[in-house]
Amino acid sequence: MKVNTAEFIISAVASAQYPQDALPEIALAGRSNVGKSSFINRMLNRKNIARTSSRPGKTQTLNFFKINEQFYFVDVPGYGFARVSKTEKEKWGKMIEEYFVGRDPLRAVVQLVDLRHPPTADDKAMYEFLKFYHIPVVIVATKADKISKGQLQKHQKIVKETLGLQSGDSIVLFSSETGQGKDEAWKQLLAQIKR
Ligand code: GDP
Repeated sequence: MKVNTAEFIISAVASAQYPQDALPEIALAGRSNVGKSSFINRMLNRKNIARTSSRPGKTQTLNFFKINEQFYFVDVPGYGFARVSKTEKEKWGKMIEEYFVGRDPLRAVVQLVDLRHPPTADDKAMYEFLKFYHIPVVIVATKADKISKGQLQKHQKIVKETLGLQSGDSIVLFSSETGQGKDEAWKQLLAQIKR
């Protein structure tokens, strides 16, 4: 996949602000610090189009990036940060639900999990939510460079089993440090975009 153009379009807090051009969208969700910004930057070959290590508690927005004038990446604010207040969490939930449940151009969600650890209760809840609404999911297991080659299969199995990954949903082992999994991730995403 050759990324010719990648443009930040808007930070939206409400559906009225979402792009109107009906291009397909791929949303990206994961716990804070999972490596979501690094994933976006690596996939788009940009150093810092998605700001890494964004601080918790900052304005929770859906950030739309237009790629090759053909589709969008939609960066969903990270979930499961203990320091975020209850009101913030409720706001997050409402905004996310409004987007995930009612958004026609949404083709699939990339759910990022940390390959080093079993998925958390928040990760499981997110996956179940997406399955409940029949939204296709591509699991991206991040920080694969931190796991030795011999342990990769074991970690992948734990992720699959803990989430209860359904057949039809794929899992990609990814490293934004080495670029491992990038081609596979694009293959999975393009298949959803072209559906
Ligand atoms: P976000 O909060 O999900 O957007 O996470 P970031 O992309 O900001 O990454 C959180 C931290 O994990 C940063 O220190 C990154 O450098 C680190 N990180 C992200 N992806 C990887 C990866 O694939 N390998 C390694 N070793 N570190 C990573």
